[in-house]
Amino acid sequence: MGDPREAMARARQAAHELGLHPKKRLGQHFLVDHHQLERIARACELQPDEYVVEIGPGWGFLTAYLAERARGVLAVEVDQALAPVLEAALAGYPNVRLLFADVLRVDLEDEVRRAFSLQGEVRFAVCANLPYYITTPIIFALLERARGLQSAVVMVQREVAERLVARPGSADYGLLTVMVAYHARVEMVGRVPAACFWPRPEVESAVVRLVPYRQPPVRVEDEQRFRRLVRTAFQRRRKTMLNIVAAAFEVDKARSAACLQRAGIDAQRRPETLSLEEFARVADCCAP
Ligand code: SAM
Repeated sequence: MGDPREAMARARQAAHELGLHPKKRLGQHFLVDHHQLERIARACELQPDEYVVEIGPGWGFLTAYLAERARGVLAVEVDQALAPVLEAALAGYPNVRLLFADVLRVDLEDEVRRAFSLQGEVRFAVCANLPYYITTPIIFALLERARGLQSAVVMVQREVAERLVARPGSADYGLLTVMVAYHARVEMVGRVPAACFWPRPEVESAVVRLVPYRQPPVRVEDEQRFRRLVRTAFQRRRKTMLNIVAAAFEVDKARSAACLQRAGIDAQRRPETLSLEEFARVADCCAP
């Protein structure tokens, strides 16, 4: 196997020879602190027989650490110009496959199967220092579409991490919290100072672990109604549930009050105080 420090040196040398610089428009802020890279790779809790998908390998700094721990790494990078840098960085790692594509446009299970010539159902982990401009679409794509996903350890903007792990009643609790909680158990792994990146970002970062549920933790009869309720609730977070239910389901206030009574929810409550389970109950009790 290779050595992640040597991989980093080879990447920098190759990028220097090609005159390549990190591209801000693609969120290219590379994690260059070896202690933090090791910590993130460790947080994935990879077994030696497991496959991992890295979203946005950049210059391959985290990729090398993942390659040390996994059976195979599929690194999906949108920036084709990074091919020579990644090839140089990862020369010592025969278990890495590169795929140049927009991660939002590929089926990860299919791609893992193809990359490692596997058959049947495939299970994989995801590890990524996510491009911050598309963090939320990537998280939802992973949770809603990625069959075979076992867990995801992702670096995100600190504010996003705080919204992901927020408790009802706090200012950070909102649409992202509730919709992600419907799909996955979320844990904070820890903060990563801006000084650990190159170029240094203007925002603070944190790493979270998402473990998708096999079955959602609450039962909802109609997911579309549930989504509509939660979305409307956090678009109008200053309003009471009486107004929110009326707006979400286009019913009058008397009907809204009756739904909330059936659900056992005080009509004067504000949406940020409702738990996932309470939102699910309201959505079900307001079925036409
Ligand atoms: N993993 C590297 C690290 O930690 O040093 C780089 C992380 S950098 C924050 C995000 C990476 O995602 C960049 O390399 C960027 O080009 C890539 N990226 C941006 N949009 C992408 C997309 N839609 N699909 C795949 N990769 C993308």
